[in-house]
Amino acid sequence: MKVLVAVKRVVDYNVRIRVKADGSGVETADVKFSANPFDEIAVEEAVRLKEAGKATEVIAVSIGPAQAQDTLRAALGIGADRAILVRTDAEIQPLAVAKILKAVAERESPDLILLGKQAIDDDSSQVGPMLAALLNRPQGTFASKLTIEDGAAVVVREVDGGLETLSLPLPAVVTTDLRLNEPRFISLPNMMKAKKKPMETLTPADLGVDPSPRLTTLKVEEPAKRKAGIKVASVAELLDKLKTEAGVIR
Ligand code: AMP
Repeated sequence: MKVLVAVKRVVDYNVRIRVKADGSGVETADVKFSANPFDEIAVEEAVRLKEAGKATEVIAVSIGPAQAQDTLRAALGIGADRAILVRTDAEIQPLAVAKILKAVAERESPDLILLGKQAIDDDSSQVGPMLAALLNRPQGTFASKLTIEDGAAVVVREVDGGLETLSLPLPAVVTTDLRLNEPRFISLPNMMKAKKKPMETLTPADLGVDPSPRLTTLKVEEPAKRKAGIKVASVAELLDKLKTEAGVIR
């Protein structure tokens, strides 16, 4: 079973995001970038499937600038076998990502495509479902457990008030939730090994995809600043303020 894993290079989740002065986006200069956390989970899951003898090859793919090579090296460090960088410096929106991943899937014919449930920079949660639709494949989104049984991916999903279990005949598309696994720490020897693993570079044009944006970002704003709180001397004063000032109780 061949597994394709999509990995996006995003601003590291520890970085405090700053909005650009002109409101056109967020500051990305001199900021640390890493693999999208949900995508690390996807790579870890693919590598575990390989270690369990269920997968034969794990291919990591990223669409982005030359620096996305570092993100792919991290995926190779976790244990992916090879990587594909679809290089572009342009803004790539979810539909274009899905079209590019579809073209890569048509070249590679993976039995399973793993993606994160969302990229933490655009918070779109669109690429996985769009890719499944473009490929006309079954999809299991927000997987918190994944097993491969008799040619099917069995996906457990957390839904309101319980768990839903789906069986998807392969080939299928699965997106990962936080609870699926805890990605391993990449050891130094594995980081060194990753440097020797193959990485192919393509462009959207090589794959016959026009990645032009379809949406225009009108404005990006910081969330409203929270007002400082106050200390009250007693429960009676708290109740009084909740009634008379905040108006939340009667
Ligand atoms: P989104 O729909 O933008 O929230 O992204 C969902 C998932 O699609 C991510 O977790 C990645 O697995 C994949 N993805 C999105 N953008 C890219 C990209 N530029 N390169 C590789 N994978 C991506």
